[in-house]
Amino acid sequence: MHRIILSISLAVSSSTTAQINNCPIVPTPIRYESHSGTHFLNGKILLDTKDAPEKAVDYLRDRLSVLYEVELLQDDTSGLSISLENVDEAAGYYSITMLPEEQTIRYGSEEGLFYAFQSLTQMIREGNHGWEINHCLIEDEPKFGWRGLHLDVSRHFFSVAEVKRFIDLMAMYKFNVFHWHLTDDQGWRIEIRKYPKLTEIGSWRDSTVHGHYSDQPRKYDIGRYGGFYTREDIREIIAFAADRNVTVVPEIEMPGHSRAALAAYPELSCTGERQPVPGLWGIFDDIYCSRSSSIEFMKDVLSEVIELFPSEYIHIGGDEVPKKRWEACEDCKKVMEENHLENVHELQSYFITQIDEFLTSKGKKLIGWDEILEGGLSPNAAVMSWRGEKGGIAAARQKHTVVMSPTTYCYFDYYQSGNKSEPLAIGGLLPLEKVYQFNPIPEALTEEERKYILGGQANVWTEYIPDFEHVEYMVYPRALALIQSLWCKEKPHYEDFLSNYLKYQEDFLDHLNVHFSRSIHDPELMLERAENGIVARLKAADPNAHFDVRIHVNSGKSSYVNAFVMGTQDSIFLERSTDSIDKIITMKITSDALNDEHVHRFLLHSDLGRPIELITPPHPKYNHNGSLTLVDGNRGAIPWKGDEWLGFREQEVSMIVDMEQLEFVDDITIGFLDDSGSWIYLPESVSVKASKNGRCWKKVNVKPPTDHNHFEGSTYRAILGVKARYLKVTVHPMEEIPAGMPGEGRIPWTFMDEIQMLKRSE
Ligand SMILES: [Zn+2]
Repeated sequence: MHRIILSISLAVSSSTTAQINNCPIVPTPIRYESHSGTHFLNGKILLDTKDAPEKAVDYLRDRLSVLYEVELLQDDTSGLSISLENVDEAAGYYSITMLPEEQTIRYGSEEGLFYAFQSLTQMIREGNHGWEINHCLIEDEPKFGWRGLHLDVSRHFFSVAEVKRFIDLMAMYKFNVFHWHLTDDQGWRIEIRKYPKLTEIGSWRDSTVHGHYSDQPRKYDIGRYGGFYTREDIREIIAFAADRNVTVVPEIEMPGHSRAALAAYPELSCTGERQPVPGLWGIFDDIYCSRSSSIEFMKDVLSEVIELFPSEYIHIGGDEVPKKRWEACEDCKKVMEENHLENVHELQSYFITQIDEFLTSKGKKLIGWDEILEGGLSPNAAVMSWRGEKGGIAAARQKHTVVMSPTTYCYFDYYQSGNKSEPLAIGGLLPLEKVYQFNPIPEALTEEERKYILGGQANVWTEYIPDFEHVEYMVYPRALALIQSLWCKEKPHYEDFLSNYLKYQEDFLDHLNVHFSRSIHDPELMLERAENGIVARLKAADPNAHFDVRIHVNSGKSSYVNAFVMGTQDSIFLERSTDSIDKIITMKITSDALNDEHVHRFLLHSDLGRPIELITPPHPKYNHNGSLTLVDGNRGAIPWKGDEWLGFREQEVSMIVDMEQLEFVDDITIGFLDDSGSWIYLPESVSVKASKNGRCWKKVNVKPPTDHNHFEGSTYRAILGVKARYLKVTVHPMEEIPAGMPGEGRIPWTFMDEIQMLKRSE
């Protein structure tokens, strides 16, 4: 064994470029040594399968036959013949020696053999003489033990065949945990024998919100929607996953996200009120009551879940729990009194601890979303950190195991590009490059604390993902970027990943008939400040890409055509308006490589590209292009992606606008975003100070326009009537989100966009 490792490390240092070009495997193996020459398959591979685990061999046989029509044979006299050797290494370890004189797969355990077979499957490529494998040496093992993908089957339901397809694809990329989000407000999806109404009533809804949650007025698709998995379905899926080295972790949400269950058994809620399974997304006030009968119900349900699922961990949700009902409930107050609980947060902790003790007594481990930290973490609980890294850091410091799944890198329901052609999504922007930067180990942790990080996973919430093709579109290729972070001890640079690995993998995904996103190839419009305006520049992953750009000006006739070739002529200057008349231009970008034309609209107003100094830094998640975002002529839209808005989460947001000369300013308008579902609210007030020199400031008495209200829709407007060069604008958000509103009690988000001043020379 060690002899082989040595020879590999010597060779790697001599030919790095060839190594990358010839190693398309994702996730990238630890060591890959390319050798000249090729094995031709001629329709078959001989595998010495004696003593080899049957399940893995069956899997490979099936895979080779389906993907390449290559037969896996045990004895024959000619052709590529691979021997297997079980070696004394870690369970996930494998090596592949594919040389003229030796073809051997060595593996630590069945798990390692399975990974070797996945790599082998990816190594087969089409040459002039049919399928072939290049000569090489590979040595590999995984970095993290939890490499997960989650799928929400409540908001939209996916068939047994689709769930299997999801697992099959993830297994091909060496993911090993399938987190199955089986229950939520909009549908209960698992058969429970003791409570038949959970599926009779709880798995069906009569309507589904149409378009985006924040659309006003809301529209609904009327019609019965739902479905559930029988115990047989579930056993079938678990066995299918086990054959692919994937553990299925079920999630049963509690005490919130429980409206589907409460529709079936209203007596489990605090009020007992009968309500239908909702067809709207969001967070609902009605949750399980904390009285003992509700907790007994949860234990009964979990008993049946444990019977079905062999996984070590059981996910109990625990996220987004409004405490309004508990605060008003006599039974909940009694539970608090009897157990000496100070507040409703401790009551949630009490609820989860009951469940933790139950699961522990059954030999299982509890895992929940990071809200289970609030009010004190239950003794054996593991934490899935989704609201950034904070929850994961806190849990690891308390010596609890953690799976990292922060929204910043791991929420595959976010948009993957800023292009207008992306299908409707919940909001937020998570491009491939961002996923690639994910590191499950928070910097803040010590060496000792890092041991508690099991790994990471991406979550696929399906409010805006109605069918399975769309699931594939949202997951691939982002899952490939994610697995690089979860598997590789050292991953290649992102640029290498794009130009070498991804290119090969896109062919592989095509071969697998995966409906993956090609957004990464779309040109991106980069905006920069310039004198008297902005410069729009096209950026594309392919340096030789050619795009036609048609620019249409709203005055009507003056449209013209411009050919953009990357690297030569790839930018255009957009000049700010010199009077109060705004010009709108529409830029249409077309190319053979694009399915749709990309349309960008710019308002060439009189403050385009104006210098703005941000005194309050935006939240790093929503700071795509700094202060230029506020004056780039591109108005923030709904549903928002995040790149067209500047987002803040501060008690005060200040900035200085420089008009570059003394001006008489009549008024100012500022765009804000109003999306309570995402905890983004309009500010309470805006104050303005003016200065002629940037040193002495005078408070401006801001007046609302004639209708006595500063806001028209979500656009703020104030009459200033002041002579100045600089304006210091300070936005005052609400101190906290009021009771009864989504995110109550927290600091609201403030999202800002275009700032414009109406000026006149005196
Ligand atoms: Zn109650």
